[in-house]
Amino acid sequence: MKLASRVAQVPPSVTLAISAKAKAMKAEGLDVCSFSAGEPDFDTPVHVKEAAKKALDEGKTRYGPVAGEPKLREAIARKLQQDNQLNYEAQNVIVTNGGKYSLFNLILALIEPGDEVIIPAPYWLSYPEMVKLAGGTPVIVTTDASNGYKITPEQLKAATTPKTKLFVLNSPSNPTGCVYTPDEIRALAAMVVELDIWVVSDEIYEKILYDGATHLSIGAVSPESFARTIISNGFAKSYAMTGWRIGYAAGPIEIIKAMNTIQSHSTSNVCTFAQYGAIAAIEGSQEQVTQMVKAFDERRKYILEQIGSMPKLSCPTPEGAFYVFVNIGETGLSSVDFCSKLLEAHQVAVIPGAAFGADDCIRMSYATDMESIAKGLDRIRQFVETV
Ligand SMILES: *Cc1c(COP(=O)(O)O)cnc(C)c1O
Repeated sequence: MKLASRVAQVPPSVTLAISAKAKAMKAEGLDVCSFSAGEPDFDTPVHVKEAAKKALDEGKTRYGPVAGEPKLREAIARKLQQDNQLNYEAQNVIVTNGGKYSLFNLILALIEPGDEVIIPAPYWLSYPEMVKLAGGTPVIVTTDASNGYKITPEQLKAATTPKTKLFVLNSPSNPTGCVYTPDEIRALAAMVVELDIWVVSDEIYEKILYDGATHLSIGAVSPESFARTIISNGFAKSYAMTGWRIGYAAGPIEIIKAMNTIQSHSTSNVCTFAQYGAIAAIEGSQEQVTQMVKAFDERRKYILEQIGSMPKLSCPTPEGAFYVFVNIGETGLSSVDFCSKLLEAHQVAVIPGAAFGADDCIRMSYATDMESIAKGLDRIRQFVETV
């Protein structure tokens, strides 16, 4: 069979082998501790579920407008104005099938063969593959642990060529948990304006912050940066709604219209009654978000304390999301070998940094219960003491 060549350019995720193996081991009855989850271990807030059930009972079961329910687009625009000081109207917003599809749709709308897209590494593993699927060229800029894995304006400038169309910014970051300070965002915004390129700001973890860290959207820095910014966000991480598949993009009307055209021929509208749950998530109590962040923070502190006392391991202090990105360079193992051996010998699942463009690191998610975290860390300690 001859498949389209675009498929061959995109390797299957290297995380698949590890997570498939962890699942198989669990199915065999083995006691596997998993730090691999990319989703909150909490349930969706009750009032969100109630709103979706009510919408279902009221017959919100038909096709809706491609760009999303008007009420949800309005609620998102208000949220962006109030939380992020971004002056968008409902017409600047498109509701998409998860934050993942808002990014993919945007890249399809903006990128074509010959275009370069700057992606700081470590990166969320789908960014380069989305660019390749659109026929564009990902330009990976490696960042430094000593700088908290954050790209500097100078690095951004050095990577820019006449072909550069887009810069992908993700703060708080998956996989590193790093958060750009407002000053760092301002400096990057000035550079984006100077270089006159687009920036997509993936803000899916904006509410998951620790140690007093604050989130500044790059679009809020100046009218000039606003004009070059597209926001990608969603409900999955903040509201424990990963399975609901609701994300959104916000940006200049011309881009949102183009995304609407692509969406009209690909996914159509996001599940109608699920969108009513999203409205409740935005407009209802934020108490559960606060509680979830508090629980994450306790686990984060515990993990940092443990990792800090282990030989051969180190990591910068993450101030956002729910991951620690641990350097394993001193073990002498590649990230894939480290992960396979750890899983086989100690039944602990972590994700190899190779998946995120950093082969001397592993990603550990603490979106799991404290007991498994403590048990898993004990096993990791035993493992690193023997390698
Ligand atoms: C989880 C995640 C997303 C989007 O997830 P959806 O489930 O599609 O909303 C986007 N970016 C990053 C960095 C993520 O970790």
